[in-house]
Amino acid sequence: MKFPFQRLSALSGCLLIAAATSTTRAAEAQGTPNIVVILADDVGWGDPGCYGATKVKTPHIDRLAREGRRFVDGHASAAVCTPTRYSLLTGQYSWRRKAAGLDRGVSNGASPLLIPTDLPNAPSLLKGAGYRTAVIGKWHLGFGNSRPDYNGELSPGPLEIGFHEFFGLPATNDRIPTVFIRDHRVVGLDPADPIDYAYDKEAALKRGLSSFAAGRNRIGWGKGGRAAWWKDTEISDTFTNESVAFIERNKERRFFLLFTPHGVHAPTICHPRFSGSSGQGNRADMLHELDDSIGRILGALDRHGLASNTLVVFSSDNGAYLNDESGHRPTGPFRGIKSQLWEGGHRVPFLCRWPAKITPGVSEDLVSTLDIPATICAAAGVKVPENALPDSFNLLPPLLGDASAPKRDSLVVMSGMGALAIRSGSLKYLPDLSKAHGWQGGGKAAKKAKGAALFDLAKDPGEKNNLLPERKDDAERLAALLESARSRSVTRPR
Ligand code: CA
Repeated sequence: MKFPFQRLSALSGCLLIAAATSTTRAAEAQGTPNIVVILADDVGWGDPGCYGATKVKTPHIDRLAREGRRFVDGHASAAVCTPTRYSLLTGQYSWRRKAAGLDRGVSNGASPLLIPTDLPNAPSLLKGAGYRTAVIGKWHLGFGNSRPDYNGELSPGPLEIGFHEFFGLPATNDRIPTVFIRDHRVVGLDPADPIDYAYDKEAALKRGLSSFAAGRNRIGWGKGGRAAWWKDTEISDTFTNESVAFIERNKERRFFLLFTPHGVHAPTICHPRFSGSSGQGNRADMLHELDDSIGRILGALDRHGLASNTLVVFSSDNGAYLNDESGHRPTGPFRGIKSQLWEGGHRVPFLCRWPAKITPGVSEDLVSTLDIPATICAAAGVKVPENALPDSFNLLPPLLGDASAPKRDSLVVMSGMGALAIRSGSLKYLPDLSKAHGWQGGGKAAKKAKGAALFDLAKDPGEKNNLLPERKDDAERLAALLESARSRSVTRPR
């Protein structure tokens, strides 16, 4: 005999399944698309061919540009990984979450889950609309309620904020622990060889931990888990295979895939079939590997007749970490690199392809990775609750040709050290020029820099001419806009 609560539970389960099935059918009936968001790692504005690169070949990224909308004024919401990834899921400026440490820097492998499980975000909203949701690749947003135990259940994590499935690496490819995680568990872990780790040298040495893992020195120290170590040369193929398999498993229903490749973050180690392929260096070779991976995902969409009604978004979590690789210019014409407030730190490629709905072309609109959640929710027909995605602008109406739709008139960007700058029109205002150089510091010249700066990117994309002395009114207007964005909790149109 079943107890009443068991019967109730069984009944609720049936109702939930019925509800999920009906929302799935409803989504399909409305012609809503599949959604694939590809967020690359440390890929700069000037890296793909479609943004002017000639010394590397990116035919698959270029295909997305040719068949979709190419934004030339697209930005990562921060100049480093973790904050941008937080904003991509939550639609909230990361610096609003100071208590969680999201107002600067990146997390290490010891971070608890950085995304609140009680607020609606992009994956939870899409899941609620009947989408099958997965994140495959680099996570870098923490696990658990405190320091994660990689020998146990890594929960809460991606599955607790709206993803049905997760496969990936915990933080970055240069960081311990060097293992893959599927859903809540490290893949292939031998319980007889448990993982210990630390990011504090003194503690690490006391426990006999080593910074050597999976064939090279990494950030942090660790011990154990050897059977689970990844091979750097196989990471890209592994993530690509997982992504293609996810698409194929779900080809008969609506799905949302967030694909977060580790390319082209250091260490720039690619599969031997790409080594030397660019003649420009290891990073450029890894860019070829990344492009090949994207080609395989686009190929899977083609093969199953899904390409026309799939919205594919491609961007990067921050700018490139160098601006010259044997003549290839990863940051294009822009000044600065990853972590900096100069354009090179946060101006990134930004492409949206949805052949059934979006007319191909080039857009000069100011857009951010922060806008991806509102845009994909709009494409999925999801009504975003009042308190959700507070800083995310819906780009869909302009993408579909509605010239009267509200557009972003200003955008705040954050450096790796937590300094902020604001864009409005073609003007960019930095309240403290000495902080433009992010965690690189900028040396003596930066320390001498005093006060604020104003640049007109339309005339001065290299940010050389500080206009503040002659345009004090504009500087004051942008300073007030920045203060307004900081003091409000919502900046998107309601
Ligand atoms: Ca990054």
